[in-house]
Amino acid sequence: MDLTFNETETEFRDELRGWLADNAPGDPPDRGDEDERYAFLRDWQRKLAEGGWASVHWPVEYGGRGATLTQSAIFFEELGRAGAPLPANVLGLLLAGPTIMIWGTDEQKERYLQPILTADEIWCQGFSEPEAGSDLASLKTRAVKDGDHWVVNGQKVWTSGAQYSKWCMLVARTDTEVPKHKGLTYFLMDMEDPGVEVAPLRQITGEPEFNELFLNDVRIPDANVLGGVGNGWKVALTTLMNERAGLAFFLQVRLRQLLDRLFEEAGRRGLLDDPVVADKFGELHLKAEILRLTAYRGLTAIEKYGVPGPEGSLTKWMWSETNQQLTQFAADLLGPEAIASGDRWAYELLRARGNSIEGGTTEILKNIVAERVLGLPKAR
Ligand SMILES: Cc1cc2nc3c(=O)[nH]c(=O)nc-3n(C[C@H](O)[C@H](O)[C@H](O)COP(=O)(O)OP(=O)(O)OC[C@H]3O[C@@H](n4cnc5c(N)ncnc54)[C@H](O)[C@@H]3O)c2cc1C
Repeated sequence: MDLTFNETETEFRDELRGWLADNAPGDPPDRGDEDERYAFLRDWQRKLAEGGWASVHWPVEYGGRGATLTQSAIFFEELGRAGAPLPANVLGLLLAGPTIMIWGTDEQKERYLQPILTADEIWCQGFSEPEAGSDLASLKTRAVKDGDHWVVNGQKVWTSGAQYSKWCMLVARTDTEVPKHKGLTYFLMDMEDPGVEVAPLRQITGEPEFNELFLNDVRIPDANVLGGVGNGWKVALTTLMNERAGLAFFLQVRLRQLLDRLFEEAGRRGLLDDPVVADKFGELHLKAEILRLTAYRGLTAIEKYGVPGPEGSLTKWMWSETNQQLTQFAADLLGPEAIASGDRWAYELLRARGNSIEGGTTEILKNIVAERVLGLPKAR
């Protein structure tokens, strides 16, 4: 792919840079008070929405800018470069919105898209279950038809942001008589239904970023089925493909920022003359650059074939591995003081543990790369 931007792309970047310079959100509140942090990110999204920047890749008719893939990549790169955080409703903007645009009826698009953009309605993703993560299609949460409603019972787990969400992208089993991939249906579930119980799970970082969801006789109207009964697997794949494609650029820029920050910190402490330290920085710099170029290569695949290719799995795998190496290196380099409770590097080190699990584990990504990129025999 040609890595130089054309005139329209340069104009887009400059306009965004100018806007970000005038509207920088500042640093989010420190970790610890999640509600305050969430309110900050919600306000940040509202500001983005007012400026027309909340979701550049959405079509103009739905409030986006109809940005090309390269412009979307520029958006995430510039957001990262400005040190701005992702907005509060990131799952709505990147996952729910695009899935509803592809599979939703006109009524569903009319009802759900606008409040996603303005962060008036936050979304979470209810896919994983205690016994269904990597093998998502084996999920057991059951939806049974009752008149013009579905009655849902079961349990979801690791549901990020459920405590702030109005809606949930829920995949449930509606038919037990057919092969497992065929018996699923995708629902838009109202989190305010009295049958939905949200129980926070505290992570190693100390934050309850994700939750358990207990679903007891939750009633979902027919009108909230997305993409047709029994078609849930295909609809869920749309969500999952958008997850990996959308975040790749933001993550690689964030990694670069973290590396630059550590480099500055090491310089301040006079550690860069140590050849072992310099060597490690060289290695991490190389990996960050490979990641950036691989993310662009993934973009070329989408431009050519219309959907993200399996190469996206390579980016996610490389990013999680490099981010874990980087944060561990920071702890080794800066010593106990850096990993003392409350320090930013301590948070980064601990949070990075989940990188090789969330959004597809490294083992699963390796299987995908082996089978679909390298053409090796299928794992059983
Ligand atoms: C920070 C974070 C946020 C998350 N947010 C959400 C969310 O918002 N919504 C949501 O639905 N889920 C969320 N998840 C869940 C995540 O998608 C799952 O944890 C992930 O898919 C793995 O599933 P599992 O935890 O059930 O592990 P399992 O699938 O049980 O895997 C256990 C281990 O076995 C390995 N393994 C499994 N199958 C294979 C195989 N075929 N070949 C080789 N190795 C294999 C795995 O790699 C792993 O090491 C989140 C997870 C994290 C860490």
